[in-house]
Amino acid sequence: MNACKSILGLRPYQGGKPIEELKRELGLETVIKLASNENPLGASVKVIEAIKKSLAEIYRYPDGNGFSLKSALGAHLGVSIDTLTLGNGSNEVLELIARVFVSEASDEVIFSQYAFPVYPLATQALGATAKVTPAKNFGHDLEAMLSKINNNTKLIFVANPNNPTGTLLSNDELHNFLERVPETIPVVLDQAYIEYLNADDDPTISWLDAFSNLIITRTFSKAYGLAGLRVGYAISSTEIADYINRVREPFNVNHVAQSAAIAALADDEYLQTSIKVNNAGVKQLEAGFAKLGLTFIASSANFVAVEVVNANDTFEKLLREGVIVRPVEMPNYLRVSVGTEDENTRLLEALETVL
Ligand SMILES: *Cc1c(COP(=O)(O)O)cnc(C)c1O
Repeated sequence: MNACKSILGLRPYQGGKPIEELKRELGLETVIKLASNENPLGASVKVIEAIKKSLAEIYRYPDGNGFSLKSALGAHLGVSIDTLTLGNGSNEVLELIARVFVSEASDEVIFSQYAFPVYPLATQALGATAKVTPAKNFGHDLEAMLSKINNNTKLIFVANPNNPTGTLLSNDELHNFLERVPETIPVVLDQAYIEYLNADDDPTISWLDAFSNLIITRTFSKAYGLAGLRVGYAISSTEIADYINRVREPFNVNHVAQSAAIAALADDEYLQTSIKVNNAGVKQLEAGFAKLGLTFIASSANFVAVEVVNANDTFEKLLREGVIVRPVEMPNYLRVSVGTEDENTRLLEALETVL
């Protein structure tokens, strides 16, 4: 068979290893997974109740426009609902955005080294050209990104906080960057971890008025604890939202997921607890790594990237201890998702054992 050339070079996205798979392979009884930046608290009880209720309607197609969820989001964020686009995870939203703006081999997409692997995947799948700027102190080098802009630039991805490094750009840096990107070039600001920062301080949504090329993406997978249901969204100009909706599959976010997301938005107590547990967990991991004499990258998200001598070897040894973490593309680094206090303790003990 002759698949498209752009597809031949692709490798499927490697997710974190499933817990059941590791139990099966190694005959382990208890396995903890700190590999995919999931919320260690499990889903909110209120969300699970809402999901149960929603099951009565699953014989119908979902609301393809996601009216109720968008209304709840609009009220929550203070934006009009025609600026919102829903996706099957923000992952899908990122792919749809790329599809809207990128089509030719000569089209260039700018993103940073050590950023989210979906940016290169989406670019390559469309047969377009990736312009990757070397990381600076593990984070985005915005000056280098600006210097890559030319007439072929069709899209720019910036993740803040960044995954897998956990680094954070300041609002001043970001704002200054947006002021210098030509208005005709869309900039995706991927905020998958934004809830872990002090949300009341976040001015980025208000920037949408001044920057018609800004697209903010967010997700219910991390702080809201709904990774398995796949719900994410974009906030943009109404013009861009309209474009994304044209390429969107009509029922891309299922009924159960929409109901769950509405309930999740309403459960501020769960969100606040998640943030508290996470911030304590980041401190616990960072202190634990320091005690083991390990270098780590200070994190603004729900994971910490830690340096070890041989990442793959340490990863394998941790598996045998029943702890799943994540090797990342940064040489000698493992990414450890923040777990519950007990899970973090177990990871740190396992790490001490294997090192
Ligand atoms: C986890 C993550 C996402 C998206 O996750 P979805 O589950 O698809 O919503 C997007 N961007 C970054 C940087 C992430 O880490």
